[in-house]
Amino acid sequence: QVVNYAPFTLLPSAVPSVLFEQAYAVQQDFNLLVDAISQNKEFLEDTLASTVKVDDFTAQLFRIHVQVLEEGLAQSVFLGINRSDYMFDCGVDGTPALKQIEINTIAASFGGLTSRTAAVHGQVLKMLGKSKEASRLLPNNPSKGLALGIAKAWELYGSQSAVVMFLVEEVQRNIFDQRCVENELWNRNIRVIRKRFRDVFEKGSLDDAKRLYMDGQEVAVVYYREGYVPKNYDQQNWEARLLLERSRAVKCPDIATQLAGTKKVQQELSRPGTLERLLPGRAEAVTRIRATFAGLYSLDVGEEGDKIAAMAIADPDQFVLKPQREGGGNNLYGEELRQVLEKIRDSPERTSYILMDKIKPQPTINYLLRAHSPLQVSECISELGIFGVYVRQGKEMVMNKAAGHLLRTKAIEHADGGVAAGVAGLDTPYLV
Ligand code: ADP
Ligand code: MG
Repeated sequence: QVVNYAPFTLLPSAVPSVLFEQAYAVQQDFNLLVDAISQNKEFLEDTLASTVKVDDFTAQLFRIHVQVLEEGLAQSVFLGINRSDYMFDCGVDGTPALKQIEINTIAASFGGLTSRTAAVHGQVLKMLGKSKEASRLLPNNPSKGLALGIAKAWELYGSQSAVVMFLVEEVQRNIFDQRCVENELWNRNIRVIRKRFRDVFEKGSLDDAKRLYMDGQEVAVVYYREGYVPKNYDQQNWEARLLLERSRAVKCPDIATQLAGTKKVQQELSRPGTLERLLPGRAEAVTRIRATFAGLYSLDVGEEGDKIAAMAIADPDQFVLKPQREGGGNNLYGEELRQVLEKIRDSPERTSYILMDKIKPQPTINYLLRAHSPLQVSECISELGIFGVYVRQGKEMVMNKAAGHLLRTKAIEHADGGVAAGVAGLDTPYLV
């Protein structure tokens, strides 16, 4: 019942143009990689074997994945919308380097709202008498790019009367972000409905050919903006998820692609030889991808994990401890990292986490504007995200694109958390 503006920075933030271009240049490679992982049953099985033993949420997703494969995939068109996030790590000599924080393969958000932020920052700069600088801000329209991917998947599904279903949360705070993408679809004469898992449980059904119907309406594409954290699910919602995954509808993402975005998979990708195995014959893509990796370490039971745990406990400020969760606010740092890891170092529970080198960007000064918060100048760090969109029909990639960017900036005292967590603000890169 209350509308607040989304948090944003007063001024755009400087971003090194070489790193910005590097992030765009590697996005199609990441699209290919995520898609390859999602089709590689053995890789997902081996990689997540230790995690599913201790993490119930990943285990439940994995069970659905296995069941759907055993029944045989009804879906033949695949749509991926992801966002690869980076920070600019400041090396010993002060040169910043692009380092990936994570890749989000489900419900990657803010493509809609951020399609408007360049206009906001352009106006602020003009009001400050900086028209020349304002004209240098790059246009950015991820909502259109994401919608083009959804529209392509809808077209390949091949039923004029079928709809696109946005699967949304019970209480949806970020509705306007989603409406930006939705409106792009209406503009292309594609019908959109918004439903919750609960609606699917009550009114969803499959016909003999596993076509998905909601209230008698055929659904061509299911775009998940929900379903990525345990609290999104009760027993009924899990049943609804299974129904959707068994259907012929294009899921964005299908459950295998969601699993490809887990932190455990990210960590295994950094092992020597893994990228080469997943992307055979694509040596240049492998090099571009690997250049963005920070140090990532497995805490699996065994000698390797023992050593890693000891290393992190001895020097906790150099690392981040990450569970298999999304949405911000779950990672552990510093003293807390040390305490938790000491408690679980001899227990299999530690395998539900991965360890990562802590990225240390050079802070800059900005003002963060947030509803009901005092306006203050803060020392800030930024995280750059690039949206990726791809569509595959059977074995053939029919679309593979970078669809725009997102810059989020937060005060340095917040180690974790993004815009949705109430910490970061929407920003615009000012290339230098
Ligand atoms: P989530 O899935 O919760 O978004 P992330 O891996 O993106 O998990 O981490 C959440 C936040 O924590 C990031 O937005 C970033 O601010 C911070 N963070 C994550 N990994 C690192 C890292 N290796 N170094 C520094 N900060 C990090
Ligand atoms: Mg994140």
